[in-house]
Amino acid sequence: MWYYNGWDTAQIDPFLSRRPTYQNYNAWKVVEFMDKLKVIIEGSARHVHVSKEDLERLFGEGAQLHNKRELSQPNQYLTEERVRIEGPRGCIDRVSILGPERNQTQVEVSFTDARTLGLTPPVRESGDLKGSDPIRITGPAGSIDLEEGCIVAKRHIHITPQDAEKYGLEDREVVQVRVEGERALTFDEVVVRVSDKFQTRMHIDFDEMNAAQICPNQEGTVIKKV
Ligand SMILES: [Zn+2]
Repeated sequence: MWYYNGWDTAQIDPFLSRRPTYQNYNAWKVVEFMDKLKVIIEGSARHVHVSKEDLERLFGEGAQLHNKRELSQPNQYLTEERVRIEGPRGCIDRVSILGPERNQTQVEVSFTDARTLGLTPPVRESGDLKGSDPIRITGPAGSIDLEEGCIVAKRHIHITPQDAEKYGLEDREVVQVRVEGERALTFDEVVVRVSDKFQTRMHIDFDEMNAAQICPNQEGTVIKKV
């Protein structure tokens, strides 16, 4: 079985695309129909997601989130609300809350932020909070102490079902993403998430953006792992 690994058809076998045989016909089809997926990379700044109850603890009874700007993923938005996050070593002020409210409050930081806070959070997918780091969040109306909830977000690609099918990617598949430039870099351990609620984008944090010196709207090339 051939696997698409980012090479051009001609590099895999110069005869393959011209003379598909019974044995290699499926492989030829797979390679032939797969373009390389170029995905726009977006940097996620540190941010907080809040539950309705925690929003009221932080901003007072009946508090609501105020949409400041739509984000690339449908129905996700930056809010006007800001909070302080605090760990054993230090705190960071004016951290954004992203809307809408969620079932569970969570804080996503970079490892540089974690160092400032004095935390060692695990690398996790959003919402996977079990055993993650404790953190204090403070708003104008009060503080909450989360026993768990602070994570460093795992690199991920949001992808539409149409794009996933076109490029032969599956939900939860782990791929690499290559970025070019002066600090060219191949990111590994990038998890693919397929949903019709998504727009196709890659999300990494600012440590990762800076490591590869990624500019706004820069694209990466998705490489399927073999
Ligand atoms: Zn994301």
